[in-house]
Amino acid sequence: TWGRVCDELQKSVGQNNFTTWIAPLELINLEDGIVSFRAPTKFMRDWVSRNFAEPILSELRRAGVSAERVDISVPLRQVANGAKPAAKPAAMPVKPRKPARAESEPLPGAPLDARFTFDSFVVGKPNELAHAAAKRVAEGGPVTFNPLFLYGGVGLGKTHLMHAIAHELQVQRPDLRVLYLSAEQFMYRFIQALRDKQIMDFKEMFRSIDVLMVDDVQFIAGKESTQEEFFHTFNALVDQGKQIVISADRAPGEIKDLEERIKSRLSCGLVVDLHPTDYELRLGILQTKTDAYRTEYPDLQIAPGVLEFIAHRISSNVRILEGALTRLFAYASLIGREITMDLAQECLKDQLRQSERKVTVEEIQRKVAEHYNVRLSDLVGPKRLRAIARPRQVAMFLAKSLTTRSLPDIGRRFGGRDHTTIMHGIRKIEELRATDSQLAEDIELLRRLLES
Ligand code: ADP
Ligand code: MG
Repeated sequence: TWGRVCDELQKSVGQNNFTTWIAPLELINLEDGIVSFRAPTKFMRDWVSRNFAEPILSELRRAGVSAERVDISVPLRQVANGAKPAAKPAAMPVKPRKPARAESEPLPGAPLDARFTFDSFVVGKPNELAHAAAKRVAEGGPVTFNPLFLYGGVGLGKTHLMHAIAHELQVQRPDLRVLYLSAEQFMYRFIQALRDKQIMDFKEMFRSIDVLMVDDVQFIAGKESTQEEFFHTFNALVDQGKQIVISADRAPGEIKDLEERIKSRLSCGLVVDLHPTDYELRLGILQTKTDAYRTEYPDLQIAPGVLEFIAHRISSNVRILEGALTRLFAYASLIGREITMDLAQECLKDQLRQSERKVTVEEIQRKVAEHYNVRLSDLVGPKRLRAIARPRQVAMFLAKSLTTRSLPDIGRRFGGRDHTTIMHGIRKIEELRATDSQLAEDIELLRRLLES
């Protein structure tokens, strides 16, 4: 049966997830509804319990096996260095403002992810405005802009910020009734209320909220009666001076099949966008997550330069970036030694392939020469003039971070230089880049030119 269940799981969780997380599990026992597995490392145990227990159980049930709980053990030496249980997402907090019956009933919100807090949100240029606005709302003071409309591409932190607002309000203003839900859930509740003839209760409940957050509002585009109800709820709350936070994948004016009056209502507060991440933000996120991981699994060792390499090579979507890092952690926990650049490339080859546009060392040299207005022959030649040596080092740096060439290989393409010379050049740029903002900008520009 397990074999057949595995076939189904491959389909439901995807091939990549399956091979990384489920294939390494060893089924030990199935008794009294408890499915016992052995996982090779405690990190894999925690990750599977957190993310794949439900899919496993539901596939088992579909195959006619009564399964209620997944239990995963780890070989003893793994558990010895103190594993903590995985954080469970907290349920939506509900604080009644006064003991009136309707208001003390639980709000039908979506559960909040306990990991999505302001503390775990890394701030950079692309998201600083959205972060500042979210922080302001989270203070729970007088409403200054209404609604707060956050928009941006997938995986850039909209949901994270909304959950963070809810968590923070719970601390700052436990007296407020805060409701977070997706636009899809809003529609579902609305339809359910219509069906059960409880539309008055529905209206009353939504009008008793102090802070309403609706995620992915583009979902209600084209759904007429849901839009209508949303519009009335929105107006009623704004009229009462209640705070509203909305997110969408694009600006209000750009959402197709959304009524004009709703678009204009959504635009009349503060509209901020989350921009695609830049290299610095990606690196910051990778470092923060690695530090957090280390507090739980102190054995992790990653060679210098690996995180920088990932930040360079993986797209702006933070979810994909996190996925790559998690895969790397799983890999590290399995092999039990330092993750070097070569191991990282091996482990992430599928993720990297997608973002790979083959940049050659020659192409880099040409673009750098052009940018700094030096001759290509000088760039790879022997001259030591600063005006030539610096661009040369920039080209070496880019060759290392944008291609998979080894140092000796790069040296050969720079007029037969030794690999230590290349290493020295790269170090120099890394050092300078930290203080010389012009240089940092040049590099970022060249990188974008080369990768587009
Ligand atoms: P969106 O709702 O915009 O599609 P999410 O809020 O779901 O994106 O974010 C996707 C993932 O990336 C989440 O796991 C989130 O914690 C993480 N993430 C996004 N931005 C940041 C950030 N600035 N710092 C830390 N984690 C982030
Ligand atoms: Mg989201």
